[in-house]
Amino acid sequence: METYHDIAVIGAGPGGYVAAIRAAQMGARVLVIEKGPLGGTCLNRGCIPTKAFLSDVKPFHKIKMSPVYRGSERLSLDIKKMVGRKNQVVETMTKGVAALFKSNGVTWAQGTGGFVDSRTIGVLHGDRQTTYRANNIIIATGSTVATIPTVSLDGRKVLSSNEIFDIPTVPEEMVIIGGGVIGVEFATIFNALGTRVTIVEMLPTIISTEDDEVIRGLRVLLQGQGITVLTDTRVTGTSISKGTVNVKIQEASGKEDLLTAEKVLMAVGRTPHTQGLGVEKIGLQMDGLFIKVDGRMETNVDRVYAIGDVIGKMMLAHAASAEGIVAVENIMGKSREMDYHRIPSCIYSFPEVASVGLKEKEAREKGLDIKVGKFPYQYSAKAMAMGESDGFVKIIAEKEMGEIVGVHILGEHATDLIGECLLAMHLEAAVEDLGEVVKGHPTLSETITEAALDWNGMSIHLLRSRTNV
Ligand code: NAD
Repeated sequence: METYHDIAVIGAGPGGYVAAIRAAQMGARVLVIEKGPLGGTCLNRGCIPTKAFLSDVKPFHKIKMSPVYRGSERLSLDIKKMVGRKNQVVETMTKGVAALFKSNGVTWAQGTGGFVDSRTIGVLHGDRQTTYRANNIIIATGSTVATIPTVSLDGRKVLSSNEIFDIPTVPEEMVIIGGGVIGVEFATIFNALGTRVTIVEMLPTIISTEDDEVIRGLRVLLQGQGITVLTDTRVTGTSISKGTVNVKIQEASGKEDLLTAEKVLMAVGRTPHTQGLGVEKIGLQMDGLFIKVDGRMETNVDRVYAIGDVIGKMMLAHAASAEGIVAVENIMGKSREMDYHRIPSCIYSFPEVASVGLKEKEAREKGLDIKVGKFPYQYSAKAMAMGESDGFVKIIAEKEMGEIVGVHILGEHATDLIGECLLAMHLEAAVEDLGEVVKGHPTLSETITEAALDWNGMSIHLLRSRTNV
């Protein structure tokens, strides 16, 4: 039996479910097809569960790093309860997506969707196949864990970010393959739990897409917390003997070595999920493994759109949501283009990292005439009082008009603080405007004002010799 819809969305992650809700708000008859639980990787095996874990281990980190507490070695945490609380958070949030679907009149079909033709999707659930027709189709099938051929994931000793969320005990040692976002976030979590953590990264730096100063700063802070960071070092293979994982590593110089660990986490990126979708059946143009789209999120096939990790522009939940809204609004008759320049990047380490726009090096390489305003957390009264004085705010703006081209924050609550900079950039405010805002005192957001003031050498709380004159 065929059912007709204005829009069918394949995948209910943060790209797909947001697109579906916006489509329903705009009056479309919407169908979402999802084989797993609602919310996708972000809600079930990514952003939200890590935040639950990070929140549970934060007091541990705080107590260990603070000189105020005594007997911190007697502290203990029940990891089963931590996993249980994470499951509760996830369950509540997935029910929330279902409730949003219901209240917006979005229909949801459980099963694996694949193209029959460019207007028809077959959905397989168990051994039952149902066919749906839609005038427009949005592919939002996300991504899966990337692996390296010489390392076999067994889900027990060598884990991916799928299995690690249900880890039953706190390991003594953990080697994390990959110093990207996932690697750094799990290094933070397990280090706080008392695991001896080693990050192995093949590039010269961890979190290599961030600004150089942020990269250097975070590395020093992670190492100060006891995390071992090996860069320019590649994992070439693993083997398991007597319950221990042997991790073969090779430095850029060619030198080989062996690490041992109770658990290994593979965090070497993600690959787009197009398997079984039938992209070839409808002649979808690809860009490598990713589905090729234009700025309107249109593929080469008429009225077929793609958003999120499967297009690989910015593999971030909030980018997927923004792409979903652009796709839907174009379908519904508006004219929207995706602007990636103002999409933030957030890393939930201790302390956090947040950034938007150009890095300083990029801005200079582009030949922009820029000045940089900077304010270290150590000069913020609130940061000092909180015992969170590591990090800085760095604002890059063009000299002539003060146009903000990049913001980079390393420090407590960086991922929230970037919000006001995003708004300033969205409203095309000049860096001087940011410096004029009167903030509550004491607050961490004063660091943004001070960095904006420093751009003109006018920071109040920087020693004169340090100001940007
Ligand atoms: P990533 O691409 O950020 O990092 C993977 C790292 O692994 C790279 O630095 C790479 O050089 C390294 N690597 C690859 N092969 C290696 C080897 N053999 N030995 C040593 N190092 C090796 O990927 P990720 O951290 O797995 O994250 C996956 C995706 O999920 C990313 O796109 C990320 O942005 C996204 N994500 C975002 C957040 C967030 O926004 N807070 C959190 C988690 C994940």
